[in-house]
Amino acid sequence: IIEFENVVKRFGPVTVLDRLNFSVQPGEKVTIIGPSGSGKSTVLRILMTLETIDDGIVRVEGEPLWHEESGGELKPAGEAHLRHMREKLGMVFQNFNLFPHMTVRRNLTEAPRTVLGLPKAEANDRAEELLDMVGLVDQADKFPGQLSGGQQQRVGIARALAMRPKVMLFDEPTSALDPELVGDVLNVIRQLAEEHDLTMLLVTHEMRFAREISDRILFFDGGTICEEGTPATIFGEPKQERTREFLKAVL
Ligand code: ATP
Ligand code: MG
Repeated sequence: IIEFENVVKRFGPVTVLDRLNFSVQPGEKVTIIGPSGSGKSTVLRILMTLETIDDGIVRVEGEPLWHEESGGELKPAGEAHLRHMREKLGMVFQNFNLFPHMTVRRNLTEAPRTVLGLPKAEANDRAEELLDMVGLVDQADKFPGQLSGGQQQRVGIARALAMRPKVMLFDEPTSALDPELVGDVLNVIRQLAEEHDLTMLLVTHEMRFAREISDRILFFDGGTICEEGTPATIFGEPKQERTREFLKAVL
């Protein structure tokens, strides 16, 4: 459902993704781990079209993300195409990124109403259902600033799900949280991971969690995949010295 083919991303003279190749199958739960600066967030930001690419091709559901096919040729994608592609993806950010001036309910109903054109009642029902799932129905009329970080992040997850994305992207969803609030957020993500149809691409430093929920782990280093495999292989018997060093430092 996601394919990166020889993707190159540079920031000025720095090559952040160096001919990156990987794919994620429909329904698969894949976790990216790796040192700071290895390009993990950049991958998610490219998928959300928050960054462009310098070379290569990215596909979502078989369709090129940054390009459109026209007459058998690829040309740079227009805004309408990017919007269409973005709708397939839901992103959960490290710092929640909620709309601070909107209630929790409105955070969940805004995009479904304006982007998908859902009637108000239907958007509200959907919001209610999702808030129930993340354990926050009683907080619907509050503003994000009145909630704890863990609650805000659960709203962030519910908000992304309200658009019924094919793929959920998580960028270190618990790293801004106080330790005692991490568990509730991980439990919500764990519950999502049990959904057979939902594809998940996750960046996290929670290694035990990654091991539990992932079908596959990608170990990034220097803008490429240094090693990939099942959690059992990566955590149990990593082949690369770099992987072993990294895991020794973080576990
Ligand atoms: P971390 O674990 O610290 O979040 P990461 O693996 O997510 O790291 P990225 O955020 O993808 O790393 O960044 C990869 C590299 O790209 C880093 O060297 C970073 O400094 C650089 N970078 C990211 N965004 C920009 C930007 N907008 N302008 C310039 N350089 C950037
Ligand atoms: Mg990052």
